[in-house]
Amino acid sequence: MLLDDLLEGKATKGTLKLWCSQKGIWYALISLSKEVPDSDEPQGWIGVDRGQNNIAVASLPSGMAKFWNGRQIKHLRRRAAKLRKSLQKAKKLKTVKRLESKERRLISYINHCISKQLVAFAKDFDCGLVFEDLSGIRQTSKQRKKNKSDAGENRDFWSFYQLENSCRYKSILASVPMKKRPAAYTSKSCCKCGVIGKRNKHSFVCVNPSCNSCHNADWGGSQNIGQWDGFSCAVDFQKPLAVMVKGNQPNGVYDSPLNQVSLSGQELESPTMASA
Ligand SMILES: [Zn+2]
Repeated sequence: MLLDDLLEGKATKGTLKLWCSQKGIWYALISLSKEVPDSDEPQGWIGVDRGQNNIAVASLPSGMAKFWNGRQIKHLRRRAAKLRKSLQKAKKLKTVKRLESKERRLISYINHCISKQLVAFAKDFDCGLVFEDLSGIRQTSKQRKKNKSDAGENRDFWSFYQLENSCRYKSILASVPMKKRPAAYTSKSCCKCGVIGKRNKHSFVCVNPSCNSCHNADWGGSQNIGQWDGFSCAVDFQKPLAVMVKGNQPNGVYDSPLNQVSLSGQELESPTMASA
């Protein structure tokens, strides 16, 4: 398709580079630049939650979602790690290198496939794509030793940035707008009421008694990423106020999100607030 554009004069060619692969096959790599139309104002935004159990979960404003399961990548990582270990023991380092590059190519192929489907999904519904900003997550989030030693779970091997990058240029070509937003609390908040709750493995249970929503955690995360603009908390003035009063007492609550404390109902015992 890009070559056709070049031949028809719709794109201008840049530099040409000759490259020989390890197998001795020669390739001519041509860079080209092309004008793309500006993206229209989208009908809505599709939130994309990236993870290791689900590589990506994309959900429309209506709630309809697409899941890309991470089982295949986990299996690939584990198998490669096992092979690598036995080959390293046998001192077959050249084979280790070859296997590593094969693993890398396979993962990047999977990411390319997913990003292509993601952009097509957005294009079909005239929507833009929203990603959470995961830069620095390897430094800020901790993992248990048990998970770290499992090649399928180890977050250092998680190629979330590659998926975002391959989505970026594909979305520019398809005139699909794409943006990023801070990742904080997107998977810990209820997507129906905004209250911070707890996730239990793959499901999220809302602790707000008037909401009681229970849904897939990654789906909820993608809804928050796509539909959320700003941080929200349950509006219940009495309870957070009681927490603030308690803040002045020796056993008071400092530094904790208000809506986390306000839900138990037991924080209201402060005598000064009883009349309020
Ligand atoms: Zn809720």
